[in-house]
Amino acid sequence: MHDDRELVENRLKRVLDERIRPAVYPASVPLDVAVWHAPGEPVPVAEGLASAPSPIAVGDAWGAPWGTSWFTVTGTVPADWVGRTVEAILDLGFDENMPGFQCEGLVYRPDGSPVKGLNPRNQWVRVGAPVQGGEEVRLHIEAASNPVILDYHPFLPTRLGDKETAGSEPQYRLARMDLAIFDETVWQLVIDLEVLGELMAELPVDGARRWELLRAVERALDAIDLQDVNGTAAAARAELAGVLATPATPSAHRISAVGHAHIDSAWLWPLRETVRKVARTTSNMTALLEDEPDFVFAMSQAQQWAWIKEHRPEVWARVVKAVAEGRFVPTGGMWVESDTNMPGSEAMARQFVHGKRFFLDEFGVENEEVWLPDTFGFAAGLPQIIKAAGSKRLLTQKISWSQINKFPHHTFLWEGVDGTRIFTHFPPVDTYNCSMKGSEIAHAARNFKDKGVARHSLAPTGWGDGGGGTTREMIAKAARLRDLEGSATVVWETPAEFFAKAEAEYPAPPVWVGELYLELHRATLTSQAKTKQGNRRSESLLREAELWAATAAVRTGSDYPHERLDRIWKTVLLHQFHDILPGSSIAWVHREAEKTYAAVAAELNEIIDGAQRALAGNPGSGELVFNAAPHTRHGVPAGGAAAVPAPALAAGLRTRGEGGYVLDDGLLRVEVDGRGLVVSAYDLRAERETVAPGQAANLLQIHPDFPNMWDAWDVDQFYRNTVTDLVDADEVAPGEEPGSVRVVRSFGASRITQILIVEAGRLDIRTEVDWHETEKFLKLAFPLDVHADRYASESQYGHAFRATHTNTSWEAAKFEACNHKFVHVEEPDWGVALVTDSTYGHDLTRTVRTSDSGTTTTLRVSLLRAPRFPDPETDQGLHRFRHALVPGATIGDAVREGWFLNLPERRVPGDAEVAPLVTVDDDAVVVTAVKLADDGSGDVVVRFHESRGGRARARVSTGFAATGAAVTDLLERPLADTAAPELTDGSVAVALRPFELVTLRFSR
Ligand SMILES: [Zn+2]
Repeated sequence: MHDDRELVENRLKRVLDERIRPAVYPASVPLDVAVWHAPGEPVPVAEGLASAPSPIAVGDAWGAPWGTSWFTVTGTVPADWVGRTVEAILDLGFDENMPGFQCEGLVYRPDGSPVKGLNPRNQWVRVGAPVQGGEEVRLHIEAASNPVILDYHPFLPTRLGDKETAGSEPQYRLARMDLAIFDETVWQLVIDLEVLGELMAELPVDGARRWELLRAVERALDAIDLQDVNGTAAAARAELAGVLATPATPSAHRISAVGHAHIDSAWLWPLRETVRKVARTTSNMTALLEDEPDFVFAMSQAQQWAWIKEHRPEVWARVVKAVAEGRFVPTGGMWVESDTNMPGSEAMARQFVHGKRFFLDEFGVENEEVWLPDTFGFAAGLPQIIKAAGSKRLLTQKISWSQINKFPHHTFLWEGVDGTRIFTHFPPVDTYNCSMKGSEIAHAARNFKDKGVARHSLAPTGWGDGGGGTTREMIAKAARLRDLEGSATVVWETPAEFFAKAEAEYPAPPVWVGELYLELHRATLTSQAKTKQGNRRSESLLREAELWAATAAVRTGSDYPHERLDRIWKTVLLHQFHDILPGSSIAWVHREAEKTYAAVAAELNEIIDGAQRALAGNPGSGELVFNAAPHTRHGVPAGGAAAVPAPALAAGLRTRGEGGYVLDDGLLRVEVDGRGLVVSAYDLRAERETVAPGQAANLLQIHPDFPNMWDAWDVDQFYRNTVTDLVDADEVAPGEEPGSVRVVRSFGASRITQILIVEAGRLDIRTEVDWHETEKFLKLAFPLDVHADRYASESQYGHAFRATHTNTSWEAAKFEACNHKFVHVEEPDWGVALVTDSTYGHDLTRTVRTSDSGTTTTLRVSLLRAPRFPDPETDQGLHRFRHALVPGATIGDAVREGWFLNLPERRVPGDAEVAPLVTVDDDAVVVTAVKLADDGSGDVVVRFHESRGGRARARVSTGFAATGAAVTDLLERPLADTAAPELTDGSVAVALRPFELVTLRFSR
């Protein structure tokens, strides 16, 4: 037979585009449209409905950036449409090529009840089926003119990302606003032909099935009268029924479709707009669930649920009803889909505490699936936290974005830093916006790495971010793919139903040990430094506030600020969302974040101050030092306060013969040369040099930094090819603080001032940068005379190791990585730590010197970047950082010094020494939280972990009359399978595995 395949395929495309799709709506009449533009921020629904709108015509421009326009559309169903299905087509000026990221609307009835959202690929509102004819139609649309930030030419700097700079130019032109007859038979024919045409394109050309589909499509096209599509669509469908009815092969891949809308809690829009995006999408989804009996929709991020409850009670009522029916499914169990690299131990835990508790409180639902499709890599501390929260499964597709290495599994056990293993699935469809296209379904089946031993995968299905979620077209396609020869099968299921099947079919999945590193978006560890500092400092202040408020409540009976702490935690957790903390949002978001963090700090300091003053006794007679760190400091016990005088600053400062200064405290002798660089850091106890011979530490280096795309997210490896060492100093002189050296440098339009000071055997470096660069990367380098194959970076409840070399592509890809409070590298018996108060990004490289064949391990912390998208002014202005170099540090020293730097002592007038609520007699066991139980019982909750990667036996002792003790999960619920520890004289004995996390709850 002659090969006419392309001819038929091209015919299908043209007839679908030009004849069949237009016939879905064979007749229409225009609606009358009027509009009222709200003057500023969004207004309540009642105010929008009560506004006095002015006429506007199709084709007119509307919508200043970030504005809200209330459209009123009115019309009458033509009398001769009786018996037909009629829909309003409401096109605000959408670009169908970008489902999301542009204008959107929510349609209301005149009584204020929501109907559904309007989105680029979801522009219809059903008016009646069938209609009587003559019905009056009146609908209101709350339309948001959110500007397009990520355009066809992506990543171009734009001022549209902040209302303060966006101007007032209308962004959209009103398009079609009609009442139209909806021909369901033609619509079904479109779906038939799309499904078969898309499947056909994925099948092998030499396979019989492809040709069967081709011939069936040809017969269907022959059956259509192009001048009467509506009259002949049924006949065309009849030609396709046979090929649509043949079942899938028994070995077909099986896809669990989960209705989904990945809505970033802020990104290219401010937080307040997400509240409305969620309302629009959930309105769509609750409406769709009523129309489609097989459909299941899952939504994560408790914060987004809480927003609907608070701001859109009428939508919330519909959500609650759909949840009760089991088809609108809470998933994820976290407060937001957060970053997981940067959040500290306790914050990561609280993401689960507050997320899971919300779903338990509202619906009695305990989520066991962690839903993080879009998070930029997963720290090795996460598995233990997931388990401690009572969850057991993880889903993400993001690792498929890695640039270099292809991950070897789609379903596997992920083992974290302490050995906890979590059943993990990467949807092989490689998207969280599946639309049931044939190419996506075929890709999932082909791409699935675990073929032969497993056959189930999950497909998150629906447009996110203002695309409106799942569409009726996706559901219609899924119905045809349920059991269709040549395709993977598709069934709507909840995430839990999918995981149950996946676990059952794959009892011994492969294991991946250690972090799930995303080989992309590495610059999110540095961009928007103020947001990152806000996070770190908020985490530290929350620890202090809980500790001192709990201590004051137990010791003095003062009120524990449950409500305030709950609210502040949720604020901090929200800002750990995977486009806020990573610094990848528009200027508006980061401007607001800075203000929010300042308010958080003010309120937490007020709580801390109040608690400390309540504890400190008579303010007139002395001064107390409060130590919130988990280790004794300057004689003050961890979690206590004592009247210990500050240690005298021992460091001496003298001039250096060759120029510069020598700082020496008897433990560490640091030489700063005439350029302000640290050419020696001599550990006097170990009699050992820290700085590599002939090199200089505290070296500021600047690189051009213009990635190929994703400016705020990415730093591409080639950035290292060009570097400028900032070695010219404007000033190197003794600083104001006794024993300190001040170094000032100017470069470009920027200026850096550093204060160097030696104290307690460590070199403290306080860096102030007045940053006015564009597309540059600023690093602070420490070339160390250390030979080691691996180094440690602090993560949640422990630390993870990475290679110092680049033997494999996997190691080479980790050229920028995350640390919490420290990075540590060591030889047997001697190591060095760098601790930081707020930076997260670092790199570490290894060279061999020609002079003495020794190894130089160069650790560099990342200070600042200056990308221009999405915030064209990223990081401009004044920044302050603190780092400390700790020569001779063990990993235990690194842990302790990290806490000390992040939790400075506080001095409070008073004379009543404060004994800690809880003490632990082994420094390897680090207490991360002391608080009162969230249930208001007054119980004291203590969370701690083994911090060095070894075993620990410790006594945890209470400084109050404890009447009982229980081991609990993160939600402070006693563990059913763990015996209550024996309480002897107010203390319990614990034995911990490496990095093991334990929560104890003491009753009083
Ligand atoms: Zn996202």
